[in-house]
Amino acid sequence: MKINIPESTLERIVIVGGGFAGLLLAKKLLKANYQVVLIDKNNYHQFQPLFYQVAMAGLEPSSIAFPLRKFFQGSSNVFIRVTEVTAIEYDKKRLQTPLGIVNYNHLVIATGADTNFFGNASLAAKALPMKSVSEALYLRNRILDDYEKTLSITDEAERQGYIDIVIVGGGPTGVEVAGSLAEMRKYILPKDYPEMDCSEIEIILIQSGDQLLKGMSDEAAKKALQFLRKMGVKVILNNRVTAYDGEIVTMKDGTQIRSRKVIWAAGIVGAIFEGFPAEAIGPGNRLKVDNHCQVIGMENVYALGDVALVTGDEKFPEGHPQVAQVAMQMGAYLADAFTRKQKGKAAVAFKYRDLGSMATVGRNKAVVDLPGFKFQGFFAWLVWLFVHLFQLLGVRNKVMVFINWVWNYVTYDQSLRLMIRPFVPKEMKNEE
Ligand SMILES: Cc1cc2nc3c(=O)[nH]c(=O)nc-3n(C[C@H](O)[C@H](O)[C@H](O)COP(=O)(O)OP(=O)(O)OC[C@H]3O[C@@H](n4cnc5c(N)ncnc54)[C@H](O)[C@@H]3O)c2cc1C
Repeated sequence: MKINIPESTLERIVIVGGGFAGLLLAKKLLKANYQVVLIDKNNYHQFQPLFYQVAMAGLEPSSIAFPLRKFFQGSSNVFIRVTEVTAIEYDKKRLQTPLGIVNYNHLVIATGADTNFFGNASLAAKALPMKSVSEALYLRNRILDDYEKTLSITDEAERQGYIDIVIVGGGPTGVEVAGSLAEMRKYILPKDYPEMDCSEIEIILIQSGDQLLKGMSDEAAKKALQFLRKMGVKVILNNRVTAYDGEIVTMKDGTQIRSRKVIWAAGIVGAIFEGFPAEAIGPGNRLKVDNHCQVIGMENVYALGDVALVTGDEKFPEGHPQVAQVAMQMGAYLADAFTRKQKGKAAVAFKYRDLGSMATVGRNKAVVDLPGFKFQGFFAWLVWLFVHLFQLLGVRNKVMVFINWVWNYVTYDQSLRLMIRPFVPKEMKNEE
């Protein structure tokens, strides 16, 4: 059965994924002579760089998510379908979804990335990822719930397991989470839980390499480490987590840590579905594309953003970094390429323009690497705030986030520490 999408004389571009790459592409094709079908498993776009602030009760999910339909109100050539693509049938130029079959003339895969547990079943089962708004919210509930439970636990070792938090992965996400947990421990928990000795809470960040923020400069890595240690975060370098049973974290050198919460920020893999030939899939489960973003060996199939691995860029032999800037530049590039094609203009190759990278550690503390200019501290933090606010979609979201940030900065507090759990009807509970 085919999904009901109006038939058109225009060629159909199907975009799978309304993230940074797919959404920008669809927006730029608003007035183009194509029929655009945007498919996403969620009906909203998510701003992943601020997930950690939702998890740390600093922002509401609605401030960092934006309904896809709002972008295309009144447009006559963009059709949105909320469903998950499960497979491609390349020879038939169509996709499979639970809602039915979708035919395409041109297909764009912009599905982003999934959490990589490196095949470790115990970690996949028990560690807490942060790759979606729902996972960030779950994490927020778990942290708050565990602090509530702690108050009634008398056994010291058991209590320690509830209050200590382990973060695995010393990239920007791990650093940001560790920093904001340290600030929560310093400014908020002592006020909310006067019965608890907050100095007992350990925040442990584990990184397999010998420095944090791989891919950023040495200065940025050293400064981030210095910031975190000063904030009381225990940073363990050159070690990796090998197992976790929900209570005990075991590391490669045999060290064990008791913690009921292990936040997994250690790796990602391309989010692809079934049907791609083996030769199209590269390291990290990413789709290999040429410098026109076309998947190797698959005519009229393109990949963008985190899921794409551009081959042949000498400056990035292992592919571009999996960050929002790359995804957006690819989305803008492909929109231009489709328009050029229709106008009969010659195709030009994709070239990534590196605008730099940054990470925040906490209040007044961030690290920024711009091409030819590196700085850390208060000014870097202001730049981080401005760039993230600017990138957020929607005026309402920008205003809400700005107000929250100002409020949190002035009061040293956040007002969102509510544990709101999804309602499950009795009937469904019984089925479980
Ligand atoms: C916690 C976290 C923090 C980050 N911080 C930063 C940062 O500070 N700076 C930075 O530049 N980058 C950051 N990143 C990375 C950045 O978010 C990604 O590089 C960017 O989102 C990639 O864009 P994309 O369009 O490729 O994919 P995404 O933005 O991930 O979008 C993919 C979309 O595809 C949809 N989808 C996936 N599979 C299917 C399917 N089978 N069917 C239908 N829909 C599907 C998803 O629902 C999603 O909407 C962070 C990422 C995370 C997880």
